[in-house]
Amino acid sequence: MLSSAIQKLSFSLEELSERGPDRLTTMAGLCGFCIHVGFCGLFVLLNLWSLVTLNVVSCGLWIYVIWLASTARPGMAVHLATFEVLSHAIVATSILGPSFGFHFYLWPVTILIALNPSLKFRHSALISMLTMLLFGCLSAFVSSDRSADYTPQLVNGIFFLNILVSGFSMILTGMLVRHMFSLQSRELREHARTDELTRLYNRRHVLEFLKSTEAHRQRNRIPYCVCLCDLDHFKSINDSHGHDTGDAILVSFAEFLQRSLRETDCVARWGGEEFMIVLTNTAGNNAFDTMTSLLTRLRSESRIAISDRQQLSMSIGVAEAMDGASIDEVVVRADQALYRAKAEGRDRVVLHHADTPPAKSPATRRNSPSR
Ligand code: GH3
Ligand code: MG
Ligand code: MG
Repeated sequence: MLSSAIQKLSFSLEELSERGPDRLTTMAGLCGFCIHVGFCGLFVLLNLWSLVTLNVVSCGLWIYVIWLASTARPGMAVHLATFEVLSHAIVATSILGPSFGFHFYLWPVTILIALNPSLKFRHSALISMLTMLLFGCLSAFVSSDRSADYTPQLVNGIFFLNILVSGFSMILTGMLVRHMFSLQSRELREHARTDELTRLYNRRHVLEFLKSTEAHRQRNRIPYCVCLCDLDHFKSINDSHGHDTGDAILVSFAEFLQRSLRETDCVARWGGEEFMIVLTNTAGNNAFDTMTSLLTRLRSESRIAISDRQQLSMSIGVAEAMDGASIDEVVVRADQALYRAKAEGRDRVVLHHADTPPAKSPATRRNSPSR
């Protein structure tokens, strides 16, 4: 059992967010077990058989904690570990007196109770405060003192060791909680900017990206282009092959886009079967060429063929950002160019020209970013 517990510990901190509670509790269980084995040896040397017995019981409880954690019951394991440390601190301090420092283990226990998510907020606040009160009582009112039976060096050594171990577990708990928080907030941030089906960026993120790219263009006069891609006749693909096949095609198409473009470009799902690509550091004519070669590659992309005879195609509208046009206006221009690509027969790229009369396409009404 111990070896399987040790195997469970071979994890990276990155994994904590997914499988954290079991592994963390297993690790704490192993540490607890080792510390009490050490104490067993120490108390045998000191001829303190009541404390040897206490530590043997504690070792048994820690093995139970490890077993609970390795059978995916971290909540129960934490409760048991809390109970063990609490009762051990009380019994050891009552027998030896506070000069040995065993009551300091109540500090990490207080933190553990305060952070325990399985307790209600007011319960954990109350129990952790009571634990602190208990610490105060043990420090101030326990009258037994066995320190005179041993050399001051030994008593101070055990006191020092206890402060160190309890303090270290407190710091470790705090650091792991901090790390879990940062992993969780990273996950939340990632979730907020990613499209669930295709794993591309979503509309919210690409609009943020456009804001910073536009600010960069205004500061440094570096051009960029907005390209809107819309898959052709996607509704009929859904109708004849089913919605699940439609979803799978969207996923493969998203992978194709990511594979085909530069890392500095932003590829996002704009909505439904429409995708937005922001080509940074690219003027209109270059963007047109890039999108044309993307279209050519799509024609020979066997991985996203709808059937043996039918290949996926798309229409693309491209617009270059320029002075005097807001981000919304650039997107509307790309949309107008896309509308023209559809109207001219699909499966093509159209670059918006500044002299094109402003036409309100159905697509424009659907996709206006200010919506
Ligand atoms: P066009 O060539 O004019 O763009 O024709 P179209 O059929 O692609 O255009 P339309 O806007 O009429 O239809 C878009 C279709 O895309 C309808 C909708 O069911 C489908 N669609 C949108 N989102 C999803 C999705 O997440 N999964 C699947 N499978 N289909 C989707
Ligand atoms: Mg569409
Ligand atoms: Mg379409």
